Amino acid sequence: MERGDLFVISAPSGAGKSTLCSMLVEKVDGFVFSVSHTTRSPRPGEVDGKDYFFVSEQEFEKLVAEDAFIEWARVHGNLYGTHRAQVMEQLSMGMDVILDIDVQGAKQVKSKLPGAITIFILPPSWQALEERLLKRGSEDRKKIKTRLQNALKEIEEVSNYHYCIVNDELHVAFGELKSIVSAERSKTRRVLAGKIDLARLRPGPDSWFLS
Ligand code: ADP
Ligand code: 5GP
Repeated sequence: MERGDLFVISAPSGAGKSTLCSMLVEKVDGFVFSVSHTTRSPRPGEVDGKDYFFVSEQEFEKLVAEDAFIEWARVHGNLYGTHRAQVMEQLSMGMDVILDIDVQGAKQVKSKLPGAITIFILPPSWQALEERLLKRGSEDRKKIKTRLQNALKEIEEVSNYHYCIVNDELHVAFGELKSIVSAERSKTRRVLAGKIDLARLRPGPDSWFLS
């Protein structure tokens, strides 16, 4: 079976990557979201096993010791990791897998799985980033400050990514994300591995051309 591709999305907190990842999984066939493990507390409305696997530091460290993660990192004071078996199983089933991970994790994935396609989401301005974090209201102001402080460093990593999307108007940004996916799915390697068998492009015994 054709193996799926791994898409890695990073962005400073508040740029809109969770929103774009959800839209992708909901609206584009063949995509699955990799549910990370984290030690951070759930936000209102977040569901264990859907948004994250919410675990204690002790449980997380046990998984690290078992080498269960493709990558893991401490981000904004909490631990986050991508479960290897979960991702590999989906890829081998032919699904495209999307990882919403930070810049440290993306570096680890790139070195272990060099075929990964990396996408960075930028907000249209610093002001928009601040406003989105404040409006989301999922963290207190001190935590928002930490996230903004980290954003300064994270944005510097943009040039290490294959693609970059400025998330100003959401529908435009989503259109760009879908275009990236279409381009990657149209790569010759993928088309030849899945959509078409070149043997079908040879004249058969009933071909008019050979008569
Ligand atoms: P991230 O996952 O990068 O931290 P989110 O997807 O949670 O960011 O988005 C942060 C906030 O900004 C959310 O409240 C979301 O609804 C909002 N948002 C996302 N994209 C846009 C956009 N293009 N314009 C305005 N608000 C947006
Ligand atoms: P949040 O707490 O807002 O959901 O996520 C905070 C940051 O952690 C974001 O940059 C997000 O991409 C990142 N993140 C989420 N899951 C993972 C993961 O499995 N590994 C790494 N390295 N970062 C993650």
